[in-house]
Amino acid sequence: MSIQQNLLNIKSTLPEHVTLVAVSKTKPVVDLMEAYTAGQRIFGENKIQEMVDKWEQMPKDIEWHMIGHVQTNKVKYMAPFVSLIHGIDSLKLLEEIDKQAKKNNRIIDCLLQIYIAEEESKFGLDEEELTAILSSSTFKELKNIKILGLMGMATFTDNQNQIQKEFTHLKSIFDRLQSRQTENFKLQTVSMGMSGDYQLAIACGSTMVRIGSSIFGGR
Ligand SMILES: *Cc1c(COP(=O)(O)O)cnc(C)c1O
Repeated sequence: MSIQQNLLNIKSTLPEHVTLVAVSKTKPVVDLMEAYTAGQRIFGENKIQEMVDKWEQMPKDIEWHMIGHVQTNKVKYMAPFVSLIHGIDSLKLLEEIDKQAKKNNRIIDCLLQIYIAEEESKFGLDEEELTAILSSSTFKELKNIKILGLMGMATFTDNQNQIQKEFTHLKSIFDRLQSRQTENFKLQTVSMGMSGDYQLAIACGSTMVRIGSSIFGGR
């Protein structure tokens, strides 16, 4: 099936409150343009340089989401245009994003990545580390970032019960944080769910799904 058809099929199954991030990493600009022509305006990339290259070549009404692990020294390249950074896992990274956002006279929206999987390789914070960041005086002084919610990746497994447990865990942390909201911490977004598990993620409370291969084909 075409990219356009894949996209329309997926969109027709998404509830209205769920935002679709089309994950276009490794795919050429012609493929992204096919999705753009079909109406898609939010794209997710996991490498900063690749996202910058695509941003330069594509229409300027696109929202670019950084969904991969972010290296502190590369934040400056995306700071002028990135619209949401999903994978924040340290206060040091937030401080750098705040600094680069200030230079660009912007407030950059971010999600904190929570470690919910049973795999060693996945990045993210546990609830204790998350609370420590939110409680720190350094965080409270960051005026050029805004935390809009949480992001997580489930274990890569066929075990639906386990995936459900992990998504539910993320949503429960999100719910517990409601009372801690401040000027730069406004909870709106739960980013969870990929091609293989987005329906389950939505059932568990996801408000933003990141879908790549089901739209653009395998990588
Ligand atoms: C690649 C990627 C996705 C999309 O994965 P698919 O299985 O292709 O839908 C979602 N989230 C993150 C963080 C990714 O790196």
